[in-house]
Amino acid sequence: MPNIKSKTGLIWFKNNLRVKDNACLYNAIKKNDTVIAVYCFDPRDYATTPFGFKKTEKFRAQFLVETIASLKTKLNAIHIPLFVYLEKPETVIPQIKKTYKVDNLYLQKEWTQEETEVYKKVCEQIKDVQISSYYDQFLYHPEDISFDFQSIPKIFTEFRKNIEKFSSVRQSLTIDTELNQKIENKTKIPTLEDLGFKSFTSHKNSAFPFKGGEDEALNRLNYYFFESKKLGFYKKTRNGLVGTDFSSKFSPWLANGSISPKTIYWNIKSFEKNHIKNESTYWLIFELIWRDYFKYISLKHGNNIFKIGGILNKSYEWKSSNSLITKWIEGKTTEPFVNANMIELKKTGWMSNRGRQNVASYFAKNLKLDWRIGASYFESMLIDYDVHSNYGNWMYVSGVGNDPRDRTFNIKLQAERYDSNGKFQNLWLQETLF
Ligand code: FAD
Repeated sequence: MPNIKSKTGLIWFKNNLRVKDNACLYNAIKKNDTVIAVYCFDPRDYATTPFGFKKTEKFRAQFLVETIASLKTKLNAIHIPLFVYLEKPETVIPQIKKTYKVDNLYLQKEWTQEETEVYKKVCEQIKDVQISSYYDQFLYHPEDISFDFQSIPKIFTEFRKNIEKFSSVRQSLTIDTELNQKIENKTKIPTLEDLGFKSFTSHKNSAFPFKGGEDEALNRLNYYFFESKKLGFYKKTRNGLVGTDFSSKFSPWLANGSISPKTIYWNIKSFEKNHIKNESTYWLIFELIWRDYFKYISLKHGNNIFKIGGILNKSYEWKSSNSLITKWIEGKTTEPFVNANMIELKKTGWMSNRGRQNVASYFAKNLKLDWRIGASYFESMLIDYDVHSNYGNWMYVSGVGNDPRDRTFNIKLQAERYDSNGKFQNLWLQETLF
């Protein structure tokens, strides 16, 4: 008789917080007899950064707590325990490995500096564990594009046209088994207070009044595509500023992986087949390609995306006036349109794409402030913070990234064009800041 040892797989959840279309979960179930999972609220993510902001503010923290609660329930339904800790992964994972005799570890591949450092610290302590990691955050998988990372084009359009012509999107992965196991799990999800915040209620005018979690993401998709059919008008409304429906609002769920871009893509295809295929349905895919593009740019340029000269290594004169930075943050600049957007961000953790472009351009191009400080403030506040999209867009707007035209936004003209009746500005400028 061959000696068949039963295998135990551990899934280390990071920014892939879903059950549907999850490569780690899919492979762990396929290749192991016992499957367990872990999520670490890393205390370093709630500390203060060198620019003086909390790395994660209350909006994203709350969204994450909701997301983990949902993930735990959904994994429970297939009998996989999700152990949750407020601890560093390099402390927790070696202990779990020892207790449960883990053979295989599964995780989503990350490549930015902080993530890589933590990964190395974990690996050093579990040398006899087989590690499988996956690029599971992309629409177009790195193995399916015709560029290696170093030859990713400088210009988005070149990248997009190539992948549209030569690459295709993989099918979503589905799991149709539940495990025959019963493993006790006494860990508790930390509360917002445990993470250092006071509980709060979402602002009445928030453009993102939604909750975290995979089901919430899928509900939103169902509403935006199939119930309201707003997807069919997306290109006309996407530059809006007020309300929940001018754009998809998928970004917070995409950022922590509650939904995969492939799931969105295949639902767009289904909408096109069953309802309508037009410029708007295409444009949502176009925007998801932007999201991929900034991930590829960060793969290509590594830590340069965090440097003041950006990926172009430009040496502009940047200021760091505390009073100008504070005025920008508090919505007290000389530009009401910038102010309204900054107040919205402070009150809700959300800002539209149009708003982000304007306030970032104003910060870097008009005030000539070190763009990394603005990016760091966004990192703290945004409910949908994504390292690649945030730093990629900030570099782009600040003239140290992928904008071949190096444009400066004319804030007054932008306000006239996108908020001609002043509805958005009125909504937020009347707010008193705490
Ligand atoms: P939709 O218009 O419905 O677009 C659908 C999806 O496409 C988005 O959810 C997003 O995943 C992707 N997408 C759209 N525009 C962009 C873009 N310019 N770059 C990359 N992906 C895009 N997006 C983040 O997800 N996280 C960030 O931290 C972030 N920081 C930004 C900082 C600046 C300075 C700027 C100008 C943009 C930033 N963006 C960021 C991109 C964009 O503003 C948001 O993705 C978008 O506003 C989210 O709203 P939505 O989901 O309704 O977008």
